[in-house]
Amino acid sequence: MPTAANPTLPPVFQPQSAADYLPPPVLRQLQWERLQAIVARAAERVALYRTRFQECGLSPGGLAGLADLARLPFTTKADLRDTYPFGLFASPMDEIVRLHASSGTTGKPIVVAYTQQDVDVWTSVMVRAFAICGLHHGDIVQNAYGYGLFTGGLGAHYGAEGLGATVIPISGGNTDRQIMVMKDFGVTAICCTPSYFLHMIDRAAELDVDIRELPLRVGVFGAEPWTGSMRKRIENLTGVQAFDIYGLSEVIGPGVAIECPEQNGLHIFEDHFYPEVVDPETGQLLPEGQEGELVLTTLSKQAMPMIRYRTRDITALIPGQCPCGRSLRRMKRISRRSDDMLIIRGVNVFPSQVEAALLEVEGTLPHYQIILTRFHGLDQMEVQVEVTPETFSDKIGALEELNGKIADAVEHVLGIRVEVTLVEPHTIQRSEGKAKRVIDRRVQS
Ligand SMILES: [Zn+2]
Repeated sequence: MPTAANPTLPPVFQPQSAADYLPPPVLRQLQWERLQAIVARAAERVALYRTRFQECGLSPGGLAGLADLARLPFTTKADLRDTYPFGLFASPMDEIVRLHASSGTTGKPIVVAYTQQDVDVWTSVMVRAFAICGLHHGDIVQNAYGYGLFTGGLGAHYGAEGLGATVIPISGGNTDRQIMVMKDFGVTAICCTPSYFLHMIDRAAELDVDIRELPLRVGVFGAEPWTGSMRKRIENLTGVQAFDIYGLSEVIGPGVAIECPEQNGLHIFEDHFYPEVVDPETGQLLPEGQEGELVLTTLSKQAMPMIRYRTRDITALIPGQCPCGRSLRRMKRISRRSDDMLIIRGVNVFPSQVEAALLEVEGTLPHYQIILTRFHGLDQMEVQVEVTPETFSDKIGALEELNGKIADAVEHVLGIRVEVTLVEPHTIQRSEGKAKRVIDRRVQS
């Protein structure tokens, strides 16, 4: 039974992918022209930008080149909240064809808007993103990102359709049905959060489905930070090539950047999203190669231009050209956000550091959770890690040894000793979307 994409179909060069290969001087010129237009649009149509530009003494047309972008003030998530719901729109409502919203941790969500042209740009960057992962017409894409106000579902959906692939708009959840569809529909590519895919891997094993025997060959994973160690685990367990995709609603949704098969950084679709990396403390522009906070400027977005948006994501621009031949600059994969930082007994800790450390130790499963408590005024950090059934049923001595190994590995990375608790498989709650890695009980205790 022919279940997979027809293997006789040759990969087709997507005309839209031509923009991935623009000679750098042509790309810079295009960015410069688009930057001037978008800054003028923002100043003319959005009160917040107009006021901010005036405050820093900048008149529309006052930029002399791309480097002058660094003279403009930042935009932050707080600006989106403060202007809720429509205060940053640069298009009248009758030109806006779509609204999305992302749930804030407190109170009101942030709202983002798209004109038809914005939706077309979004589709084109997603087409290019999928093409970079080696997808093409004939592929069968299981889209397990959530559909709805979240941008993940529709972003991937339009991109896969634009590519000429077959889309299964299954959305998140109902894992048994996901496995059934993956198997029965001959799925060749899947889109979801990496943590949800891990959950599917476990469930497939319980249902006696071997993902390695299915035609599934590509996973496009994003919407949460994940490490290179996690990728290795996913690829080893399933034989699927796992690509990291990056995006955020404030800028467009998924499709801001994606890994190429070199898997050495994510190419940024910088003809539409201009990247800068700044010191998160001082806001100073950092040179290529230096790690800091990613700041993005939308060069073509009509409904809601974002000028120097502080993403809170920590990365560095990678110097030099990628061997794949694309001229788009690359950024390091984002495994941490400045928002994620925990301060434990005065030490800065990122959940991704813990993830990387524990996945290096054999016998662990890629399911973990960090629990923070306070005892006699002192922060306590416990890492709960699931271990393989074989390890768990092993003699107590083996478990103790593994516990010590993990504690050592974490201490090596963080410089502090934390409590490690080994738990049975399936103890830690599974996520169908973004994983909850940290439980902070410090306020109550
Ligand atoms: Zn590349």
